Amino acid sequence: MTISIDSNSGFCFGVTRAIKAAESELEKGSLYCLGDIVHNGQEVARLEMKGLATIDYDDLRTLPSHSRVLLRAHGEPPSTYWIAKQRGIEVIDATCPVVKKLQDRIRACYEQHRNDEAVPPQIVIYGKPGHAEVIGLQGQTNNTAIVIENEAQLDKLDFGRAIYLFSQTTKSVEGFQGLVEKIRSVYRNNGIPESRLEYHDTICRSVANRVKELQDFAKANDIVIFVGGTKSSNARVLYNHCKEANPNTFFVSSADEVDLVMTTLRHDVMTTDITTNPDLKVGICGATSTPLWLMEAVSERLSVS
Ligand code: SF4
Repeated sequence: MTISIDSNSGFCFGVTRAIKAAESELEKGSLYCLGDIVHNGQEVARLEMKGLATIDYDDLRTLPSHSRVLLRAHGEPPSTYWIAKQRGIEVIDATCPVVKKLQDRIRACYEQHRNDEAVPPQIVIYGKPGHAEVIGLQGQTNNTAIVIENEAQLDKLDFGRAIYLFSQTTKSVEGFQGLVEKIRSVYRNNGIPESRLEYHDTICRSVANRVKELQDFAKANDIVIFVGGTKSSNARVLYNHCKEANPNTFFVSSADEVDLVMTTLRHDVMTTDITTNPDLKVGICGATSTPLWLMEAVSERLSVS
């Protein structure tokens, strides 16, 4: 069989930058990271071996002053910077510049419109509630932003008021456009000017095309091994897209799980022993949180199993 690794899979620019920052800061001394630096247990473990200590918000409140804390690519709300300042903690800010710019835009929108009406402006974030990036974005609006994940949640909005719509960077372009159309149609049907909706497509283009690229890759292979972290929602979503394009797609989070996949393949999926099929194409791909070294380890394991 031939094994190939998808060249479009793996860390995006923001995650690569945060990991490089962590590695370089670890050379200077002890370093904490607020939350998992990336939603991939294997990569977190690799950096923890180098000395990175992952902490949560409770830990942040009790760290000794002068501790050094790295803020990951997802970004943080203003309250995190405030706590760090109060405690004399040194912040190493590895927020992705694309996320930082989005935070700035949302804060500017909030500041500009906060006194427009009797109630705060209706800033809406198309995103996953509770996701770290979304928490950081909500924080720019004093936590007044409304988070919606799909059209079914549009009933959370007051269509009598202006709507300022933004998106979490990793959401789908189609989903965002669908929301815009739906809001416009509600306005139209109620005789409200469509100009009451101001929308900003803030989806990160470094990941926006990944679904199509992944599906093309999945279709071009007989078997697909998708490598991702079990805590990563992006990995789950991308895996499902792969599976849709090629039903012989398997999810693994470590090279050790390849053996189980091979057993399944031999017994349940293929009638022939895949290791002796010279024409079989096996593709390895992953999420934006999947390190290249892990996809390479899976490839290596596959070639000897
Ligand atoms: S997906 Fe885009 S915005 Fe998000 S961390 Fe990666 S590069 Fe930055």
